[in-house]
Amino acid sequence: MEWLEADHHIHTAYSGHSDPAMTIPRIAREAKKAGLRKIVVLEHFPEISPKTKMVADWRESAKDTSALEAIARDISESDAAGNLKGIRVLRGIEVDADPFALDGSLMLPKAEGFDVVVVSAHVFPGGGAFWFDNVTLPPTAARATVERWFDWMEKVLASAAAHSLAHPGDLIGARGLIGRFDEPGILSRFGKLFDIMADRGIAFELNELLGRKLPDDVRESYPSLVRLAKSRGVRFCVATDAHRPDAIGQYTWVPALIREADLGSKDIVELGPSD
Ligand SMILES: [Zn+2]
Ligand SMILES: [Zn+2]
Repeated sequence: MEWLEADHHIHTAYSGHSDPAMTIPRIAREAKKAGLRKIVVLEHFPEISPKTKMVADWRESAKDTSALEAIARDISESDAAGNLKGIRVLRGIEVDADPFALDGSLMLPKAEGFDVVVVSAHVFPGGGAFWFDNVTLPPTAARATVERWFDWMEKVLASAAAHSLAHPGDLIGARGLIGRFDEPGILSRFGKLFDIMADRGIAFELNELLGRKLPDDVRESYPSLVRLAKSRGVRFCVATDAHRPDAIGQYTWVPALIREADLGSKDIVELGPSD
């Protein structure tokens, strides 16, 4: 499928939690081997790494844009050295929405100079924990967190200058805050988010790595989310969220989702400046 020849979300050695082999020349080489013609190389902002295990450290690291600058420098050096022949390499950022302000603002107020801006939420609303932390909430607190997350995401999507939403539904889906995406009350709230995304042209990222993070029941109900987004006029982009060379361009869950939700070439877009 032609739309699987792009990968809109590839991490680098600069993330502090990816394979150190993820240099720009190596990423470009692996991407070509995987049959890709276009990739987005990006990094988290703020950094998520062993150095920022606590949310307070993560917040503090929002002063440091050095990884993003290093990626830009490496892309132009690799280009000058002829290492990017045959592949289009775009400069991206995976920027978190501000979980403390909860007003829709981003942790990097001016995400400028990037070809692709991917907006994400890796921290619980309020800043209590990362979404991958082992948090178990009693049912009433879980429900309240889900509501808070939806309120927050509405604000983020309504104001962020972003091209796509990273791994939609991750925080509430992967941590047991909901049982399934199609349970009562959940799809209707997603419907509101998707209306905003359709209106503002923010793409729904079909994220290969998310498939491995969701519990079985939640993953099984994910196509209902994709179908709903399609019915509201949202466009989709494909991404592996690769953190190691052998994950670049390797799609298995994404094509299954595309089939199950009956997405066609009109629904799937490529992000960034046109050639
Ligand atoms: Zn992410
Ligand atoms: Zn990522």
